[in-house]
Amino acid sequence: MVAAVETSSRATEALAKARAGERLSVPEARCLYTEASLLDLGAAARARRQALVPGREVTYLVDRNINYTNVCLTDCLFCAFYRPPGHPESYTLTRDQIAGKIEELRAVGGTRILMQGGHNPALRIGWYEDLLRWLRATFPDIEVDAFSPSEIGHLADLEGMTMRDVLARLKDCGLAGLPGGGGEILHDEIRHRVSPKKQKTDGWLEAMRHAQSLGLVTSSTMVIGFSETVDHRLSHLSRLRDHQDRSLAEFGNGFGSFISWTVQLENTPLGASRHRPRYGAGGQEYLRHLAIGRLFLDNTRHHQASWPTQGLKLAQVALEFGADDFGSTMLEENVVSAAGTERCRVMVEEIHREIRDAGYEPVQRDSRYRVVRRFEPEPAGVA
Ligand code: SF4
Repeated sequence: MVAAVETSSRATEALAKARAGERLSVPEARCLYTEASLLDLGAAARARRQALVPGREVTYLVDRNINYTNVCLTDCLFCAFYRPPGHPESYTLTRDQIAGKIEELRAVGGTRILMQGGHNPALRIGWYEDLLRWLRATFPDIEVDAFSPSEIGHLADLEGMTMRDVLARLKDCGLAGLPGGGGEILHDEIRHRVSPKKQKTDGWLEAMRHAQSLGLVTSSTMVIGFSETVDHRLSHLSRLRDHQDRSLAEFGNGFGSFISWTVQLENTPLGASRHRPRYGAGGQEYLRHLAIGRLFLDNTRHHQASWPTQGLKLAQVALEFGADDFGSTMLEENVVSAAGTERCRVMVEEIHREIRDAGYEPVQRDSRYRVVRRFEPEPAGVA
């Protein structure tokens, strides 16, 4: 996509409307994609951030991503993580392995685990229920946000149950939140092309609707760079905005945040394809999309910078493009115990530094955006 260097008069009007807190139409948002300059988009998104989340604080969450199994039947073309059933590198974590990871998280003041995995046909609903009950009994201080709409859809199909019944049973066993993984682009033309066996748009939104009706914490996500058009992106954003309106009106509970990032192609079938140059998105496109998300999704309060995919430096810049939150520490897997703890400490220090260097104050939060910890300002002159 070729970005405008100067903002057109039409786009200037749309930006003024968004800054005033008025809802953007799809044609107005389309105009911003093609006719607004990057810096004008950033200024408007920053103003909306300040209107909805005023002040100089930037929040983040100390958590750990636990990928409990890499076995998956779904063969998404952008996935480097999964292995088919029976593959020599396939795994499902034991309770001891999971406990070790949570102990490391506790050692650095973490408050949440985010558990996600593949669509593993060997794991039935009883396995998930036992796991959640054990987590609640063993680690009552750690919040469990787990699975994704597509994992819930897979489990419902496997058990011949509705997604609502699956979610209700998992909630009874301790599930606190359903993260928004697997959203990618919520348009079935794209989903058919890059993940033909995966849950479609309506299924993803239906799972989220049930989760929100049950009071679970949820987030919305979006991945750009699948060679989608601006209209595909706008369809995704429109479906999210409409969904959010309905969930807030009916349940008083909607997406707590919106997180977007660019597709990561390394070691994936898409990355190895002869069409690779069509895929992916650069830093400028990420920032433009982040800002338009902030302006268009006027009913979602928190917008996250995605440092694990964009890097800490671009995540820092994202704070000037509508983001008010630095996401979570997402301590990586496959590290030995001591190194894992130390790495998380370093990660928190780096996040603090990037936030402070941008002129903001870091604040640790939980998954409902409640403050866990504020910090003393750093003395001036520390290098
Ligand atoms: S469903 Fe998830 S784990 Fe399975 S292939 Fe797709 S992205 Fe990978």
